[in-house]
Amino acid sequence: MQIKTDFRSDTVTVPTPGMLAAMMNARVGDDVYGEDETVAELEHKLAGIFNMEAGLFCPSGTMTNQIAIKCFTQPMDEVICDQTAHVYRYEGGGIAYHSMASVRLLNGPRGILSPGLIAPEINEDNIHYPNSSLVVLENTVNKGGGACYTLDQIAPIYELCKENGLKLHLDGARVFNALVATGDNAYDYGQYFDGISVCLSKGLGAPVGSVLLGSKETINKARKIRKAFGGGMRQAGFLAAAGIFALDHHVTRLAVDHQHAVLLAEALNSVAYVEEVMPVETNIVIFKLAKGFTTAAVLGSLNDKGILCGTTGPDTIRFVTHLNITEEMMAAAIETIKELKPLRIM
Ligand SMILES: *Cc1c(COP(=O)(O)O)cnc(C)c1O
Repeated sequence: MQIKTDFRSDTVTVPTPGMLAAMMNARVGDDVYGEDETVAELEHKLAGIFNMEAGLFCPSGTMTNQIAIKCFTQPMDEVICDQTAHVYRYEGGGIAYHSMASVRLLNGPRGILSPGLIAPEINEDNIHYPNSSLVVLENTVNKGGGACYTLDQIAPIYELCKENGLKLHLDGARVFNALVATGDNAYDYGQYFDGISVCLSKGLGAPVGSVLLGSKETINKARKIRKAFGGGMRQAGFLAAAGIFALDHHVTRLAVDHQHAVLLAEALNSVAYVEEVMPVETNIVIFKLAKGFTTAAVLGSLNDKGILCGTTGPDTIRFVTHLNITEEMMAAAIETIKELKPLRIM
């Protein structure tokens, strides 16, 4: 059987032997009763890393984001985010369904927002307008090709939100990639955000789980909403142990994934079937095909050579690097990219 090199997402990683051992040895209890010490340890550890008061372990990043949005809005409110935002595009219409809020979509360069873009979209108090109550940022921006905010860009957005009484939530599914790329300190994030979602099952390589961080008051409310969403888990310490292991062992190595992404981008920049590669900042490479090449043809011929990746639009393809991509896989993938002769239709 041909071995597949899977660049579809950093969610495809499977636990390493060390991570599995940590899971097997986890001390667990019933977390809905508040008795799982490994879950508590993970929540406490991650809250400490980001200088937030408390954390809540959830089954998915979608759930952490949607719980946060529900915590920070009332029905009829409006959420401000970029038009590429995962919370808007890829969470099944959850904002409307769970929070009964409307969404104001902005158009940031590569999904990166700024006070200048946000300020004019904050509604004044007027009977006609929905109440603007929350801004959501995404770091890194998935659909922006892994583009990062620095803390210098985040601080003035926080100031704007504070002046106008809006909450600020971070969809930090890949926030550790951003931290590794920018050199910012996780600890400095806490002062700016009311909520932070962190995925353990993306680049960090845990099999399941995300953590929502916030104030004690927010997390108490979030815990109740998680129960209502059906996300209260029992002996979840086996999963939390994987998250703790990931935080201890898989953060600094994200730099390797970023180097791999640069190498893929260099190869893609050298071939005729690619028109443009978005600048690479982290572990995501998005590129646009040259005229006459279809995503079906390119994905098909890559797949024939054992390389899996996905599309982000009608003529754009995405590669995501992660900890299950080895040096050998990289070397083979680069050779394949350079030698590929996808069918051209015109
Ligand atoms: C993956 C992802 C999430 C959460 O996804 P789940 O699959 O629900 O864990 C949230 N935001 C972004 C930007 C993501 O890439």
